[in-house]
Amino acid sequence: MFLTGKSAVVTGSTSGIGLAYAKAFAGEGASVMINGFGDPAGIEMERAALAAASGAGALYDPADMTSPDQIAAMIRRCHAELGGPDIIVNNAGIQFVSPIEDFPPDKWDAIIAINLTSAFHMMRATVPLMKAAKWGRIISTASAHSLAASPGKAAYVTAKHGLAGLTKTVALETATSGITVNCISPGYVWTPLVEHQIPDTMKARGMTREQVMNDVLLKAQPTREFVTADQVAALALYLCRDEARSITGANLSIDGGWTAA
Ligand code: NAD
Repeated sequence: MFLTGKSAVVTGSTSGIGLAYAKAFAGEGASVMINGFGDPAGIEMERAALAAASGAGALYDPADMTSPDQIAAMIRRCHAELGGPDIIVNNAGIQFVSPIEDFPPDKWDAIIAINLTSAFHMMRATVPLMKAAKWGRIISTASAHSLAASPGKAAYVTAKHGLAGLTKTVALETATSGITVNCISPGYVWTPLVEHQIPDTMKARGMTREQVMNDVLLKAQPTREFVTADQVAALALYLCRDEARSITGANLSIDGGWTAA
């Protein structure tokens, strides 16, 4: 239980990859603050299971990642009720697929706010607390789309490239403070986010569901396998170890060879 005594805030952790991070941290004894949207009863069940797994408490905070004030309040709440935060994971994200000429401006604004700007507000609020503690781990879920583009994903690709740049910058600013700042770039992980983009991709590219699965999603990955949320969470857990203290400013691919091609 190498994270006993530490606290972690994971944005967008009511589902998918974020929930896997929260489970991994709780399994090593960290107290966790989960965040995101969803059915209240389902969220409460996850929160209770995390509290039982960690033995150190788990809280849910409904902060909307489009609201700088709610993000700052969530970090203050974590500090007051769980301590730290020692670990933050900027993970909340949404997707929208459309050619640029039809891309709705409100979807662009939402993706940039949730997938990129929220990480700025999270880091801005947390770095002073981590500097005071002389220890911290900042992890962001970027994407293979932080390194390579795909048609129809203007906002998402822009946000993820930005997240990789933000990661490098804050890593340099905190390099002598006991804080590491990294992003993890998964290929396709089977979660609701991927499932929901299948109809839009079918429309945008004039494809059947099977064609999207095989000719778009799995075609990108030489392994021809989806990455799993647990594999992504295991990498995040490694980044929290003392042995990983020299890994900072990195963009770590976990994409079945996608960006090697
Ligand atoms: P998901 O849809 O399962 O989870 C997204 C989470 O973000 C949910 O908890 C949701 O409630 C939350 N969320 C959405 N809008 C929010 C808001 N305004 N405020 C707070 N929370 C909000 O998706 P996922 O696949 O687990 O995605 C998690 C992250 O991983 C995203 O940043 C995504 O871009 C990234 N990613 C996913 C894949 C993939 O293939 N699934 C690949 C690479 C990167």
